[in-house]
Amino acid sequence: STQIQLVSRPEGWPEPENFRTETVELPELQDGQVRVRNEFISVDPYMRGRMRDEKSYVPPFALNETMTGGAVGRVVESRSEKLPEGTPVLHQYGWRDLAQGAADEFTAIQELPDTPLSVYLGILGMTGMTAYTGLTRIAGLKEGDRVFVSGAAGAVGSAAGQIAKLLGASYVIGSAGSDEKARMLTEKYGFDAVLNYKDAPIREQLAKAVGEDGVDVYYDNVGGDHLEAALDVLNRHGRVAVCGAISQYNSTERPCGPDNMGNIIKNSLMLEGFTMGDHWDVTQEYTSRMTEWFTSGKIAYDETVVEGLDHAVDAFIDMMKGANTGKMVVKI
Ligand code: NDP
Repeated sequence: STQIQLVSRPEGWPEPENFRTETVELPELQDGQVRVRNEFISVDPYMRGRMRDEKSYVPPFALNETMTGGAVGRVVESRSEKLPEGTPVLHQYGWRDLAQGAADEFTAIQELPDTPLSVYLGILGMTGMTAYTGLTRIAGLKEGDRVFVSGAAGAVGSAAGQIAKLLGASYVIGSAGSDEKARMLTEKYGFDAVLNYKDAPIREQLAKAVGEDGVDVYYDNVGGDHLEAALDVLNRHGRVAVCGAISQYNSTERPCGPDNMGNIIKNSLMLEGFTMGDHWDVTQEYTSRMTEWFTSGKIAYDETVVEGLDHAVDAFIDMMKGANTGKMVVKI
């Protein structure tokens, strides 16, 4: 099996030199085990956190071990009745072409017509579910709410904006890093407005765009300047789902915080952080609602597909720089 391993911990932006490709001989299958040929592997921002030797909600990657994470593929050899050959599965064995282990470590997934399995890494998987959880369980989205989503053209953000609309938000504004992404989000994804944060300070742009009506919910994927901008325009009893802070993941300097945290008090705002680890019980509810939305054409969905396990590292770094629209996956 060809596998990608982390060999040193990046300082600032990760470099290809931090990784190596290894060929590993797989042992024969034991009773109860399956072998899976991966079709897609996931590259995610949280993996940058795991490259640090720090205690967090997921343990750090060990050096000289294969990068683990979400992947989808098909069983090619089976010694388990639970997962016969050919079954499409989701698992966490990560950046490798072949994965092997106990059948319990693989979850069978339902293949949708004319749809690649990669949707289970994106809209029907962890990132879509994160968007849903943040809106419904953390921000307590209500009908009529006005919503701001940062990182709107990414996997979580593009799902969050659309789910907000499907659940009754009256107005959804997003931010993204290019005019092309902004145009796509308004024309195809149903956002009411999208700001290119590279055009001018997001704080000025957002205040002008939302005007007196402000916003009731902020879905934060970016942190820093975007959180500051949101705190300026949140209405009384506004709610913030603190999901991620990608603007800070590769920074080597101490990040500066918002200067308007006082608004949290003045306006009785609610900001709540969350990690999906505490919310996996949402899976059934989410999968049934999103499968319905997705298959009935109520959800726009794009992914950025990079070909070849050899390009997994570049795909990961490029994703952090914004080369992706929607979920970034690597096709094996
Ligand atoms: P995305 O698909 O959104 O990819 C990352 C995007 O971040 C890039 O496409 C880029 O788009 C944007 N970006 C990079 N740097 C900056 C910056 N300085 N300012 C603004 N935008 C920037 O990744 P995901 O959807 O997988 O993740 C989105 C967020 O959700 C992350 O913060 C992640 O950590 C978080 N997350 C949290 C989870 C939880 O359980 N709490 C679970 C999953 C994700 P652009 O061109 O617009 O700059």
